[in-house]
Order: sequence, then C-alpha cells, then structure tokens
Amino acid sequence: MTFDFLVLGTGSATPVINRNPSAFLLSIENESFLIDCGEGTQYQLLEYKVKSSRIRHIFISHLHGDHYFGLIGLLSSWNMNQRKEDVTIFAPRGLDEILTTQFKHSDTRLNFKIIFIETNTENAYHLIDTNLVEVSTIPLHHRIPCCGFLFRSKASKRKIVPEKLPQNFPIPYLKMLKDGLDIFDELSGITYLNKDFTIEGGSSKSFAYCSDTAYNELKISQLSNIDAIYHEATFTESELKRAEQTNHSTAQQAATIAQKINAKKLIIGHYSSRYKSLELHIKEAQSVFENTFLAEEGKIFKI
Ligand SMILES: [Zn+2]
Ligand SMILES: [Zn+2]
Repeated sequence: MTFDFLVLGTGSATPVINRNPSAFLLSIENESFLIDCGEGTQYQLLEYKVKSSRIRHIFISHLHGDHYFGLIGLLSSWNMNQRKEDVTIFAPRGLDEILTTQFKHSDTRLNFKIIFIETNTENAYHLIDTNLVEVSTIPLHHRIPCCGFLFRSKASKRKIVPEKLPQNFPIPYLKMLKDGLDIFDELSGITYLNKDFTIEGGSSKSFAYCSDTAYNELKISQLSNIDAIYHEATFTESELKRAEQTNHSTAQQAATIAQKINAKKLIIGHYSSRYKSLELHIKEAQSVFENTFLAEEGKIFKI
C-alpha cells in the first residue's frame, strides 16, 4: 500500500531562502491529503509534480499565517484551471470567513464546491472514516486553537494471485476469496481453500502530524504504536525558554514525545529562521530518539 509523506515546506513564521512555510502531502493509495498550506504551496505542488485533482481533503492545523496563507492562491488557481471536484477543508473557526471575504472582494466565483468543516481543537475525535483511511484530530497546545491529525489506513483485503487460479474459475467466487473465505463449489464438489489462491493484503499504517505545539505529554495520550510521527522542532535546546514562551517545541522535546509514544520513526521540521544549519536539531533529537529524520523540501518518507 502506498503511504507516502512528501515534505513541501519546513519553515516557520518568518521567511528564509530555500525553506517554504509548512505544507505536506500525505498520499495513501490514490488519495492525497494536503496538510497545512503555507504561502507558496501551489509552487511546491508544481515543483514536485503533484496531481492536484487527487487532493480532495485539506487539513489546516491552525490559523497562524505560516500554515494557511497559501490557500487563497491555491484555490484561486484551481478555479482558473477549471477544477470541478469538491474539496473539503478542515480548519479551526474563522477560515471560511477569511476565504469568503477574499473571494468576495476579488469577485471570484468558484467552479467547484468548498466544504468547510470546523475543527474542535479541544478533543480528539474522528474527522473522516472511509474504506481507505480514518483521520482523527490530535489536540495540541499552542497560542491559538490548534490541532494535529492522526491518519490510520485500513488494512486492505487479501490479494488474489491470478496464476494460481484454476481455468474457468467462477467469477462470483473472486470477491469471496478477497474477503478471506474458503469456498465449497456444490456443482463440482470441490473446496477452494483461500490460502491456496491469495496472499495477505497491505497492513494498516499510522501517521501522526503534530505542528505547532508546546511540549505536552497529556495531549498525546491517544498516540501509541505509531509508525511515524511528524513533530515540530522549532528550536534547539539552547532556546528552551523561547520555546516555552511561544508554545513551540525543541528538537529534543519532539524526540521525547516520539520515544514516549513508542513511534517507529520521527520526522522533525518547522525550523525557526534563526537556524541556517540543522545539525544541532538532528543531533539533539537523535540523542533521545535515534530513528529521527530531518524534514527537507522535496523529501518523501515511505511510512
Ligand atoms: Zn507555525
Ligand atoms: Zn503557530
């Protein structure tokens, strides 16, 4: 099963050359989920050849500009490109008002429908539950209402190995095989054992997105045995005070969270513009949680 996390932006509040503000694309099979949409996200989608029509859901963690200022540009371009597919946007209260005002004063009439779903950032709850994936909120601790997102893909059905099927195998039985059933064919008196014709489907995978947030263990109590977690790491340990004052985390704190929830992999990002080099970020994080990786624009993590 495809479960890829593409990094589109690793910066934070103020701009730096070669770093874009927060934006990520999680692709599960043929669906792509855009997570945060900082300024210039549409250029990053072009740069990394993302098919925009596959994006039908956008998740905005909170309304600090580095997480959504790219939205009006992206949606306007989709409109000019004659997009017809609906898009659902999950965000805290206020975003619909902001976008509606922007569209109103630019006299933009959309060819497609935007469905706004206001997130409650106080509690963990389900946003989406389909055959493919389940998405829940992760309440975070920041200066304004903010939540992360937990994606869990569903285990896929068993896969048929076509070469193993006998000739003229009855078509109605294929679905039963995918469902994991053994089949008794009354006409011929033959029993088809599922294990002879199928292999395991893809297993369920999980990914947690946590940006922006102060270090807070209570808020992550819902996360356990996660395959991978993206956690903001705005600062290094020498700026711990600053992290506390601004409700952000250090790389070491991000690593502590990954360790406590027993994650398999940690990806850090949302670096403050004061850091040109990220050597200390990775060093400090790996001192606590070895399997840590730096988010970098264009990098794809296979979960
Ligand atoms: Zn931010
Ligand atoms: Zn923020």
